[in-house]
Amino acid sequence: MFDNLTQRLSGVIKTLRGEARLTESNMQEALREVRMALLEADVALPVIKEFIERVKQKAIGREVMSSLSPGQALVGVVHEELIAIMGGERAEINLSTAPPAIILMAGLQGAGKTTSSGKLAKWLIDNKKKKVLLVSCDIYRPAAIEQLKLLAGQVGADFFPVQAGQRPAEISAAALDYSRKHHHDVMIVDTAGRLGIDEVMMKEISELESLLKPIETLFVVDAMQGQDAVNTAKAFADALPLTGVILTKLDGDARGGAALSVRHVTGKPIKFAGVAEKLTGLEPFYPDRMASRILG
Ligand code: GDP
Repeated sequence: MFDNLTQRLSGVIKTLRGEARLTESNMQEALREVRMALLEADVALPVIKEFIERVKQKAIGREVMSSLSPGQALVGVVHEELIAIMGGERAEINLSTAPPAIILMAGLQGAGKTTSSGKLAKWLIDNKKKKVLLVSCDIYRPAAIEQLKLLAGQVGADFFPVQAGQRPAEISAAALDYSRKHHHDVMIVDTAGRLGIDEVMMKEISELESLLKPIETLFVVDAMQGQDAVNTAKAFADALPLTGVILTKLDGDARGGAALSVRHVTGKPIKFAGVAEKLTGLEPFYPDRMASRILG
């Protein structure tokens, strides 16, 4: 992950060798390297533009400590801005509401919604000692319901038994009743995903959102989709009051651009990252750690 980006950015230090301080003109070449690095990493263009501008503004005239070369100083600014563009602070999952805290999972088919629902249940059980109910509203794919049931068994969560013929809204309402009766702390609702964004899908999930009033509506997105991830993210952010993002398959993404773009595009923090297929492969997302990883 991030191999190219890391390599390119380390080249930045070299381009500024021999300079005494950072100026607009001597930074030009270095910033071109940063821009290339971000382009190759498949970061969205508007994000790159803003990023470069912010780095430039911050770096010009910055006092370079005698222990640092200008190149190192610029990389320092890049580091700070990488953290900022990924949201700055770590954003915790919000469960502060009367139980059950409802988490609605949204995203395209194949993004990793169902797997992430199971992983998130496991994370909440292991780290927060929560009693979790998993609910599937994916009535169009019986296999997805079965998959979630299986995951529930594997992670020690309860599974809401869906009746044949129930619509997503009915499932949600019944699951909420069930969850109150059984004193679940958290109810995670997996929803149907389509191959592309369509009106029917958006209407359905937006109805579920109004009905359930979840404390968290998490947009699940596949990091390997690069620029496409950004377009999808925008469509979901426009249609739903998202509260956060789960960025999946970071382990398979050689470029890493989506990690840098998605926060900017949705305006919502990345709360978790999927880093492996296995059920323990979900981690809280730390912008500062990710920035350090990118810079190598
Ligand atoms: P859904 O259609 O959005 O519910 O997607 P699934 O949860 O069924 O996931 C699609 C595929 O992606 C499955 O094969 C998952 O095992 C895989 N997957 C999901 N998250 C990750 C991840 O973080 N890393 C890896 N390597 N694979 C993942």
